[in-house]
Amino acid sequence: MPNVPGFRGILRDDAAARDVYAEAAGIQRRVPRAVAVPADAADVVALVRWAAETSTPLVPRGSGSSMAGGAIGEGVVVDLSRLRAIGDVDLAARRVRVGPGVVLGALNAELAPRGLRFPVDPSSWSFCTVGGMASTNAAGARTVRVGATRPWVAALDCVFADGSRATVRRGDPPPDVPAVVRFLAIAGELRVAESRRAARHDGVRKESSGYGIAPWARSGDLVDLLVGSEGTLAIFVGLELALQPIPPATASLLAAFPSLEAAVAAATAAREAGASACELLDRTFLDVAAAGPLPVEIPAGTEAVVLAEVEGESAAAATEALAAIARACDDAGATAVRHADDAESQHRLWALRHAASPILAKLDPALKSMQFIEDGAVPPPRLAEYVRGVRAALARQAIRGVIFGHAGDAHVHVNPLVDVRLPDWRARVEALFAEVTALVASLGGTVAGEHGDGRLRAPVLREVWGAEIVDRFARVKRAFDPEGILNPGAKIALAGDERLGAIKYDPTLPPLEPTARAALATIERDRAYSSFRLDLLNG
Ligand SMILES: Cc1cc2nc3c(=O)[nH]c(=O)nc-3n(C[C@H](O)[C@H](O)[C@H](O)COP(=O)(O)OP(=O)(O)OC[C@H]3O[C@@H](n4cnc5c(N)ncnc54)[C@H](O)[C@@H]3O)c2cc1C
Repeated sequence: MPNVPGFRGILRDDAAARDVYAEAAGIQRRVPRAVAVPADAADVVALVRWAAETSTPLVPRGSGSSMAGGAIGEGVVVDLSRLRAIGDVDLAARRVRVGPGVVLGALNAELAPRGLRFPVDPSSWSFCTVGGMASTNAAGARTVRVGATRPWVAALDCVFADGSRATVRRGDPPPDVPAVVRFLAIAGELRVAESRRAARHDGVRKESSGYGIAPWARSGDLVDLLVGSEGTLAIFVGLELALQPIPPATASLLAAFPSLEAAVAAATAAREAGASACELLDRTFLDVAAAGPLPVEIPAGTEAVVLAEVEGESAAAATEALAAIARACDDAGATAVRHADDAESQHRLWALRHAASPILAKLDPALKSMQFIEDGAVPPPRLAEYVRGVRAALARQAIRGVIFGHAGDAHVHVNPLVDVRLPDWRARVEALFAEVTALVASLGGTVAGEHGDGRLRAPVLREVWGAEIVDRFARVKRAFDPEGILNPGAKIALAGDERLGAIKYDPTLPPLEPTARAALATIERDRAYSSFRLDLLNG
């Protein structure tokens, strides 16, 4: 075991501990050389100092629920889930200070009695950490109205790559630590480059790929650059988050459409009318869901369903706002529109969004639902083209897939079901990955709307961003972390990185240590990502 001076947390390098951190929610597997579980922020400082002195790469990690392979790696995994203190809530300023390991659901449970919430609502709310959310610029159904995580982060308590610790706060001057000083030395050139060609995809509404150079250049706030940096620029040991009052009332509707174009037109209108959430379920999703009991009836011939929610200051206001969206759905050619005003009927409508998962879970165990083209977002006018392109790419590889997503933000999730018994399954996965990456690029979209690049997408960023912008990202990385201590290989590919790498479902991979294998199976089956992994090894 490495001797880390001053470190008081847990350090392990036995096979079970390393293997139980070798996988996260995405498709890849990377076995770390050791696992460190800091007891507090001072422990993180001690660990990073040691890593800098010994040139040891570190892989920060919250719950390991991320899809893109940012929380796995060959270095020392740093499990930050024990840093989970929730500070006093500042009701007047609507702010709270939290440890990075606080799970979003736990935070919102604490805030609800005070009438407040952290408004960004990933479906992983019950197990993802706020540190992981800030690191990926996570988003959710409500992002169409409230944005992603970035604007809700007021300050970040950071440990930089040499172990120096400083708070980066919106509106304050940047801290005087070597990493930031090095960054400020190139900031002028970055701004000039940004003014020539900004690091953003025009019209795309959600972005979690690359570094947030564009929002930083607009605001001048380093927080905007650090959010979404996937543990590659700093480790967050504390966050100050902005909060929002819980709205008194909501109302929802479900609308069925005979064409993707009609559904997209309705989704755009719903967003413009102020929908607080606006989701799309494609025919591929409805076909799977129809194999089980549907919570609501869907007319035959439906190509896509739009689910929309509005929030209001009163039930009457919510109902009125919903009526405007219902009219827009009718105008777009909906074949059915169902309203839901009370909590129970709203719950029934939204249950449709989860209706495919239990059916997918019961399919042939050799069919693996693999997340590798799961996060594309395009300019809204290109959404129908994108969905159709993904359907065609799946068909060409003879892979069944389920398509759904955040229609209001033109952001689409795809779960391809890959039969790992087929001798050429990996070739098909690689071809699908390449084809959908090219499709996203051709439509001016991003490969990562909310899940980040991780190690999965880092090797394809040049295709989507172009060489000039990726070089800009690499300059940022070098300024903050010249020795490559913090999550090397995530976001910025390393020379020789293999596309996709080891896929955890590959039956030919060497077996993991049995207790770790069992723990990982439990985590995946029960979505127990926030369970402490070392405890799971003890049964
Ligand atoms: C079923 C399911 C549904 C999901 N739904 C959504 C969704 O709706 N929206 C969405 O955005 N995502 C979703 N996700 C993905 C995932 O939950 C998010 O990416 C989440 O933000 C990751 O949080 P985590 O604590 O698991 O982070 P991890 O997976 O542990 O880490 C994610 C990244 O952040 C870095 N990191 C973690 N903590 C820190 C820290 N303190 N300091 C610096 N870097 C750090 C890691 O190095 C890694 O690069 C879903 C995942 C699953 C399994």
